[in-house]
Amino acid sequence: MTPPTAKPTLLDLTPEEWRLFCERNALPKFRAKQILEWLYVHQAASPDAMLNLPPALRVLLADTFDSGRHPPVRTAESTDGTKKYLFQTHDGQFVETAMIPDGDRKTLCLSTQVGCRRACSFCMTGQQRFHGNLSASDILNQYLSCPERDGITNIVYMGMGEPLDNYEEVARSLTLFTSPDALAKSPTRLTVSTVGILPTLKRYIEECSCHLAISLHAPTHEERLRLMPVEKQYPLAEVIRLLREHPFTGQRRLTFEYAMIQNSNDSAAYAREVAALLRGMHCRVNLIPCNPLPDANLLPSPRPVIETFQNMLKRAGITTTIRKSKGQDILAACGLLSTKHQSNTPC
Ligand code: SAH
Repeated sequence: MTPPTAKPTLLDLTPEEWRLFCERNALPKFRAKQILEWLYVHQAASPDAMLNLPPALRVLLADTFDSGRHPPVRTAESTDGTKKYLFQTHDGQFVETAMIPDGDRKTLCLSTQVGCRRACSFCMTGQQRFHGNLSASDILNQYLSCPERDGITNIVYMGMGEPLDNYEEVARSLTLFTSPDALAKSPTRLTVSTVGILPTLKRYIEECSCHLAISLHAPTHEERLRLMPVEKQYPLAEVIRLLREHPFTGQRRLTFEYAMIQNSNDSAAYAREVAALLRGMHCRVNLIPCNPLPDANLLPSPRPVIETFQNMLKRAGITTTIRKSKGQDILAACGLLSTKHQSNTPC
């Protein structure tokens, strides 16, 4: 197994930083372009493979950086085709990544933290508490070292952790995914999901152009507080006010995620409140049948209850979909990713 590393990795630098690296080392500018091509077009894992670079530069790269590439240490596959990978992070911890196939789409669900500070009552990652931030390199590695990498059509930051509690590294990874000089993906292929951390949400809206998903789960302050402690620090009303200031028209999509929990947040009264809250916003709602946690007594709402809720929102003019729950048997479904039992060993 690869030991934890103290050096930066080849995947930590943005295109701009590679240009500065070349400048500082008195290298011609085109070397930055060549290095980026090796890393992100040929997806080379080590400087040894970068054949058109002078040997001295290959040695400099190998001395200065680690590769950042760590293949998964374990893979699990669900009966529905969903796969779950266990990856090691730069500081020797572990995170899980899910790959969810659906027709001709393959969505990769990335983690951004080991555990999470936000402790939502229905989420297993929250129960693990917080153990550290992933680096941009750790985030990219989940894609670059994914055995299914070439078939991935969509990337969602919906794995372990709260992405906007690790904004700098998340933003750096998004730059590398979308920059024409790196992985050159369309921002419409990437979605970041958040509980709504106001200061970094504002930055994300202004500085990034990828889609946004907000974990809503309840329409009012009191009810959301019951499920999500973050409501105390960053109340929903302020999150909605901020979102309303930035109309999501055009290519950029705003989605609200709503876990349907039996006898908790799934009644007609809740649906009416959600419709009132989102009135006039350019957005959609995604209803997720709550995935039961191994040791909690939350159950998903019955299908007819979810459909009634959906129909009420649709009648209010809100595009509302019901998410298929996938990968439950390997604990890869929404809210079930956790490395609680893996502390420092994957075996
Ligand atoms: N922290 C971010 C990223 C995680 S995304 C966020 O909360 O948005 C994971 C999505 O799954 C979130 O919408 C989360 O609220 C939801 N989720 C968590 N636990 C769940 C569960 N048990 N069943 C269904 N959805 C759940």
